[in-house]
Amino acid sequence: MNKPIVSLQENASGFFDKIHQKHASQMECRKGCSKCCQTDISIFEIEAERVTDWFKAQAPEEQARLRELWNTPNQQSYCTFLYNDQCTIYEARPLICRTQGLPLFVASVNFLDYCPLNFKDGDPPKEDWLNLERMNTLLSFAASNAGLDKRIRLKKLKELLVP
Ligand code: SF4
Repeated sequence: MNKPIVSLQENASGFFDKIHQKHASQMECRKGCSKCCQTDISIFEIEAERVTDWFKAQAPEEQARLRELWNTPNQQSYCTFLYNDQCTIYEARPLICRTQGLPLFVASVNFLDYCPLNFKDGDPPKEDWLNLERMNTLLSFAASNAGLDKRIRLKKLKELLVP
């Protein structure tokens, strides 16, 4: 397993937890809300590799259960790994999924974005924003250093996991 990508993903999840705890009354993010999973995204191979490694580390019965589930169609236009409003690769989900719902700041254009369900009382303080470009730069570095910087759609990744 590639350590830099695992650290990056875990740091993002840690930051999410911290902000979610701090702004609990201002964030609708919770188990069962899948409004940010309504598309087929593409990820770097380095993150696809983490999903594959995680899948292979599951017990054979769990792998069989997931394969059977993934062989059934889910809702059109939603992420291919979303079933019953839950992420079926949650522990190994990509970086972008770990940051949804956070205040995402694009410094080069001085733009702050977040889910319309969150922060209805106004923007959170600056120290709680995630610098999206910095995170994407670190992700690109990790991917190119590992030689795993081609992109793959999640739909394609699922096809590879379900022979
Ligand atoms: S991988 Fe999981 S968290 Fe990410 S979009 Fe798909 S269902 Fe949602």
